[in-house]
Amino acid sequence: MAESADELNPYLIACKQISRAAEILKLPRSVTEFILRPRRVLIMNFPVRMDDGSVRVFEGFRAQHTDALGPAKGGIRFHPNVTLDEVKALSMWMTFKCGVVDLPFGGGKGGVVCDPRSLSHGELERLSRAYAEAASVILGPEIDIPAPDVYTTPEIMGWMMDTLSRLRGYNVPSAITGKPIVLGGSKGRDRATAQGCLYIVREYLRDRKIEPANARIVIQGFGNAGRTAATLLSELECKIVAISDSKTGLQDPTGLNIQKACEAKDAGGLHLYGSGFMIDSKLALQCEGDVLIPAALENSITSENAHHIQCKAVIEAANGPTTPEADKILSSRGVQVIPDILANAGGVTVSYFEWVQNVTHSAWEETEVASRLEKRMIDAYHAVQKSARAHGADLRTAAYLISVERLRDAIVARGWA
Ligand code: NAD
Repeated sequence: MAESADELNPYLIACKQISRAAEILKLPRSVTEFILRPRRVLIMNFPVRMDDGSVRVFEGFRAQHTDALGPAKGGIRFHPNVTLDEVKALSMWMTFKCGVVDLPFGGGKGGVVCDPRSLSHGELERLSRAYAEAASVILGPEIDIPAPDVYTTPEIMGWMMDTLSRLRGYNVPSAITGKPIVLGGSKGRDRATAQGCLYIVREYLRDRKIEPANARIVIQGFGNAGRTAATLLSELECKIVAISDSKTGLQDPTGLNIQKACEAKDAGGLHLYGSGFMIDSKLALQCEGDVLIPAALENSITSENAHHIQCKAVIEAANGPTTPEADKILSSRGVQVIPDILANAGGVTVSYFEWVQNVTHSAWEETEVASRLEKRMIDAYHAVQKSARAHGADLRTAAYLISVERLRDAIVARGWA
């Protein structure tokens, strides 16, 4: 039976995941109640002048889950289906993701209800600057530091950083991460989420004694996370046997040519790769392989399709791609799920590196960024495996246990509980 609207509500899903760890840790009720709600949420309505001279009012949000461990950190999403509950959930997931890789941040997330693909370049710039101005009252390098997320780019981060700097009257590169390098962006940030995910895939394959050249990978979503993961994993000689974006799926059991797929996407769409390889976008998830990497949106794997997943492991590059019901089905079928708060933590880790470089007025070489990222991801992977063994828990709960414990300690140390 399909999940109800409540069962698909990302905020309620996040609460369920955190509550499970809180119960195992026997957290005092006051601490659990505190961490199940964002500390601060801003709802904004702001006008944007369109190219035809009319004015449209857009709705946007920014949620800050907690500042117990440091400033809030997390992306801004532009999407027609953005909701306040989604942004709240994403801010909570960010807190626990930062905890898994041991970053001194709490979680934040923002979103604007819009379809960026229907806006001109000028409209997109005015919308981005208007959002940054409206949210500026709660943003800042020591308060809350945004970054890119779905349908937002380094260019958009550059516009937002410029707006925040103009409002302050001086340059504040550390106010935003994921910026163009010329504005203080970090080398390696554009590929960081996928690079971090690759380290996790590599560790998983090593544990399973599968040589990368024999590994068959299925990837849903062909944007920053999915496309870069496909490119990096094909460079590692893995076979990418299926990919998809919101419109098209492609399958080739002998391995797709990812460079050709990127060229097709840039030239107008994945369908240009060749009609003989095309499948329904929804069916890509169900292709046979060793590892499935969901890299699109929440709730991609539900009770409706979890029975049909044919990969042996799901490594979550997207945030919240698997519903709790689907988690249960996958577990009963022996499919291992490596959770989002570990698998996609590379993005926020390099965002942290970018912030550190900005506040110390330094610039690291790409090799330094990559080796620091690799260490954090591999340490976190093994810490989560160890926590799973110690508590007899699945990997998602194990990852939450690490993070919730750290947050509890900070809350207690501050005297809040
Ligand atoms: P993006 O906008 O660059 O790409 C999203 C991709 O998903 C696009 O290719 C789009 O066509 C595809 N898509 C949308 N709906 C789909 C569907 N129903 N089926 C198949 N494909 C679909 O976004 P992104 O930055 O790559 O983010 C993807 C996921 O990764 C999100 O969950 C995001 O929160 C998460 N994430 C991103 C980062 C980052 O640094 N960009 C970091 C951590 C997590």
